[in-house]
Amino acid sequence: MTKPGQAHDAILRGGMVVDGSGAAAYRADVAVAGDRIAALGDLRGATAELDIDAAGKIVAPGFVDAHTHDDFALIDQPDMAMKVSQGVTTVVVGNCGFSAMPLPADGELPSSYLSAARGIFGSQALRPISNSCRGTRQR
Ligand SMILES: [Zn+2]
Repeated sequence: MTKPGQAHDAILRGGMVVDGSGAAAYRADVAVAGDRIAALGDLRGATAELDIDAAGKIVAPGFVDAHTHDDFALIDQPDMAMKVSQGVTTVVVGNCGFSAMPLPADGELPSSYLSAARGIFGSQALRPISNSCRGTRQR
């Protein structure tokens, strides 16, 4: 908890925080100390060496990879360890006219999707995907 007058390394003020929990974005200040988020909320009384006006900006932990072709990887490996291990917490998919969506709610991907994926990704393309949105890689 930040006390009035407490100094941090950096404060991002008034941004819309997208915290990754699935909750709606909310306006807040974010204080950083070292490599950690030290405080979150209304930090009007706090100071920092670096004070950033984040109004009108999105504030989110990690890196946003704005152009990926991870559409099938998200389904196949939902923990996305290969991205998280690099500090990437958000990927934008559906780029270059390609998407794994919409997935049918009641079953497997159409064979045309799988054929297209195999054409793009070769032997690493997915097997049919269950409605749990979890697939398995071909071996
Ligand atoms: Zn692309």
